[in-house]
Amino acid sequence: MKIICVGRNYAEHAKELKNEIPTAPLIFMKPSTALLTEGKPFYHPDFSSNIHYELEVVLKISKNGKAINQTFASGYYEEVGLGIDFTARDLQDSLKSKSSPWELAKAFDHSACIGAFFPKDELDMNSLHFQLIKNGQTVQNGDTSDLIFSFDYLISYISKFITLQKGDLLFTGTPAGVGKIEIGDQYSGVLEGKELLSCQIK
Ligand code: MG
Repeated sequence: MKIICVGRNYAEHAKELKNEIPTAPLIFMKPSTALLTEGKPFYHPDFSSNIHYELEVVLKISKNGKAINQTFASGYYEEVGLGIDFTARDLQDSLKSKSSPWELAKAFDHSACIGAFFPKDELDMNSLHFQLIKNGQTVQNGDTSDLIFSFDYLISYISKFITLQKGDLLFTGTPAGVGKIEIGDQYSGVLEGKELLSCQIK
């Protein structure tokens, strides 16, 4: 399986990092070794002193597809969940300044924290509300009605370049409010009032 991620898919987040609003989806990937599941803690690595949390809606791809027409894209995911795209912001800034790939800032071990998944049929995918709670305080508040590129557009766009396979995960971008993690922090991800994800920083 692979983890495909979208950058800058909420305008307010693009602005907070002083990035331009993209005119096409910004895509990157994480390897399967980036997965962190089942409420396991995240151990802060020593190669970064500024790792950020980014809470995102995650789609689980349910069948293989190549060059998927947008009209049929919603048939390629059945379940939705939440994930944290842990990002070594200091490394990313340094790589960006050299126009180098972001790989090491984004694809490191356990940088893709995921929680439980829900059948999408029970939810209105066009206005899903989700929140990241850090040590009891809400730090990110997102709504999928604010997406720059819709889920179906993303699936169609990505699958022109990369074959989607059953079990792949699509991280769909973070809303504003990203920030630095500290050892001891406790994070919970809430989708439509249900806590789907929890992660402690050690
Ligand atoms: Mg992200």
